[in-house]
Amino acid sequence: MRVNTSSHDLKIADQKHHLHPFTEHGSLGVDDRRVISKADGVWLWDTDGNRIMDGMAGLWCVNVGHGRQEIVEAVRAQMSELSYYNTFFKTTHPPVIELSEMLAGIAPDNMNMVFYAGSGSEANDTILRLVRTYWALKGQPSKKTVISRKNAYHGSTVAGASLGGMGAMHSQGGLPIPDIHHIDQPYWFGEGMMTGMSEDEFGLWAARELDRAIEKIGEENVAAFIAEPIQGAGGVIVPPATYWPEVRRILESRDILFISDEVICGFGRTGEWFGSGYYDMKPDLMAIAKGLTSGYLPMGGVLVSDEIAEVLHREGVEFYHGYTYSGHPACCAAAIANLTIIKREGLVERVRDHIGPYFQTRWKSLQEHPLVGEARMVGLFGSLELVPDENDLMKRFDNVGKVGTITRDHSFANGLVMRAVRDSLIISPPLTITEDEVDHLVATARKTLDDAWGSLRTAGLV
Ligand SMILES: *Cc1c(COP(=O)(O)O)cnc(C)c1O
Repeated sequence: MRVNTSSHDLKIADQKHHLHPFTEHGSLGVDDRRVISKADGVWLWDTDGNRIMDGMAGLWCVNVGHGRQEIVEAVRAQMSELSYYNTFFKTTHPPVIELSEMLAGIAPDNMNMVFYAGSGSEANDTILRLVRTYWALKGQPSKKTVISRKNAYHGSTVAGASLGGMGAMHSQGGLPIPDIHHIDQPYWFGEGMMTGMSEDEFGLWAARELDRAIEKIGEENVAAFIAEPIQGAGGVIVPPATYWPEVRRILESRDILFISDEVICGFGRTGEWFGSGYYDMKPDLMAIAKGLTSGYLPMGGVLVSDEIAEVLHREGVEFYHGYTYSGHPACCAAAIANLTIIKREGLVERVRDHIGPYFQTRWKSLQEHPLVGEARMVGLFGSLELVPDENDLMKRFDNVGKVGTITRDHSFANGLVMRAVRDSLIISPPLTITEDEVDHLVATARKTLDDAWGSLRTAGLV
C-alpha cells in the first residue's frame, strides 16, 4: 500500500473513486470518513493516529478478534499449495473436505452436509432456490412462498433483500420478488409495548402471525419460514420468551421448512454454536457466513438437513446452482483455522459462562441513564434503546434516526465503534474481549450517553 500517502490524500482519493455500501454520499464530506489501517484484538487504528475500540467486531464478524497470525499463516500455506480450484464437475480438494467434516461436527445432529457460497447473501440466495427445488422434487411444486419477517436482514442480493424485511431496501430496484411474504416481527420495545398486551402475550401473538400467514397463503403453497434467531441489523431484537417455543409448536404442526439465518447468531455470538440452539429450535437449513471465517476472508454457506440432502442425492437429480468460489481453498483454510481457535480457546463456552454474563450485567446497568429506555444483551450482542423521556417509555424522538446518529458520532469521537439502528445503539464485540476491555467499553458508552445527553439538551431535543 501507499504508506507515504497522507491521511487526507487517502480520503480525497476515497471520495473521488469509492462508492461505499449503505452510505449517503451526498453528506459524506472528505474528512467525515475514517481510514482504518491496522487492527489487533479488539482495537483498530486509523490513519490519523487514533486508537478505537471495535465494539462491532468489524461488521458482526471478527469473532476471534483481529490480527490472528495463525489464520494468516494457514491461508498463506494454503495459497502456496493450491490457491484455487473449483468444486464443480466431480472435483474437490482437501481444505473443503476438512472444513465440511468440521462443520458437520459442530452442526446439530441432523445436519451433515454443507453447500458453499461467498457470503451470507449468497447463502440465502442458495436457500431460496434450494427450498423451492426441494419441494418440486418432492412433487409439490406449488410450495414456493417463503414467509419472512418485517425488519429482518438476510442480505443485499436480489433474493437476500427480498427475503429481508427492510422497507428502504424494498423501495429500490423493484423488490421484493414475488412469493415472499413478510409478517410482523417480535419487537417488544419498538412495537409490542404499545399494543396493550403483556410481553409474553405479544410474543405469542407475533408467533401466531406465522400460523395466520400459512392459513392465508395455504400450507400447500408455503415452502419455508426464514428467521434470524435474534434479528441483528434490525436492532438486536431479542424476542419475548414465549416467541420461539410457540413458533416451534406451529412448525411441528405444519409441513414447511424452517430456515435459521445464523449469519450473525452462529459461531458463538449467543453463547451457543448457533442461535437456533440457544432457543432450542430445529432448523432444516442454516445460512452461515461472518463468524465462519471471522471475516479474515469472505465465505458463506448453507448447512443442510439429512432429509433435504437425501432428496438431492436421488438418482438423476442435479441442483443447477453453484458459485465459482464455492468452497474456495483459501477461504476454507481461514475457516478451519478460525474454528480451531474458537474450539481451542473455548470461546463459545466463554461467552455462555463467563464474559457473556459479565458483560450483560454491566451493559444492563446503562439502563439507569436518562437517555436509555432499555438495555438488552444476549451472549455478546446488545442494544441500547434511546428515548426522550425515561418516565414515558412509549415516547419516541421525532425524526427517527437523528438521535441515534448523533450518539453514534459521539461514540466514535470517544474511541468506541457502536452502530446506530434508528434511535438505538448496537454492540457486538469480538468474543475474545477481556473483562478490562468490557469495563473500558461500558465506561466509554456511559461517557458517550452523557455527551449525547448534553448535545441533545443544547439542541432542545430532550
Ligand atoms: C450480514 C447478514 C447477511 C448477509 O451477509 P453478507 O455476507 O453481507 O452477504 C445475511 N443475514 C444476516 C442475518 C446478516 O447479518
